[in-house]
Amino acid sequence: MRLDKYLCQATSLTRSQAKKIIVSSRVKIGTKEATSVVVNPAFKVSETHQVLLDGEVISALGNRYIVLNKPAGYICSTIDELYPSALRLVSAAGKSNLHFAGRLDQDTTGLVLISDDGDWTHRVTSPKSLCAKTYRVWLAEALSAQAQDSLEQGVLLKNESKITRPAHIQVVTPQQVLLTIREGKYHQVKRMFAAVGNKVEKLHRESIGEITLENLQESQWRELNPTEIVSFK
Ligand code: URA
Repeated sequence: MRLDKYLCQATSLTRSQAKKIIVSSRVKIGTKEATSVVVNPAFKVSETHQVLLDGEVISALGNRYIVLNKPAGYICSTIDELYPSALRLVSAAGKSNLHFAGRLDQDTTGLVLISDDGDWTHRVTSPKSLCAKTYRVWLAEALSAQAQDSLEQGVLLKNESKITRPAHIQVVTPQQVLLTIREGKYHQVKRMFAAVGNKVEKLHRESIGEITLENLQESQWRELNPTEIVSFK
């Protein structure tokens, strides 16, 4: 699609207003590699491009794809409950249909995905996707080799009938590990360590699939780039 047409579809601008804005260098095109000003209204926007107007991502397709570094004290719900909704931290336009692709507990920090594309969030959270999620886990007790082995092979969680899928653990220090799992049962990480007699003191999600926080500080968010979006298409 031509850039001027894309701008019209994504905003309420007329074609002539869009052209003027483009030639006045207010529009940038982002790719995975770089973001640069484009002054040609006829520039062809492809699926892999991100279009920015005055530094803000705009979309002619209407869908938003966001990664947030959730701090403790916020919940992954669209409404406030005992704690405020983490959507309060996202000051994006067109927030009305945004929802979470999976949840983190109130006291867990780190990566959460947010979108208004229900098919996309379903693909992220579907057990069939076997999508890898990596957590940094701080433990009350040093992790024994035997407990590590059990967790990697699969453990039986309280009130479940099937053992957990194989997991991967990278030991950082005796009481800090990186755990990668490919499922997302309720309180799964805390219950996994409880199943081997340990306790999670602090939990932080570092990645989902290929998506990482990069340099996002706590409470900051960013739009996903096209490659990250299509990794769940
Ligand atoms: N597992 C948990 O126990 N809590 C989370 O927030 C995420 C995974």
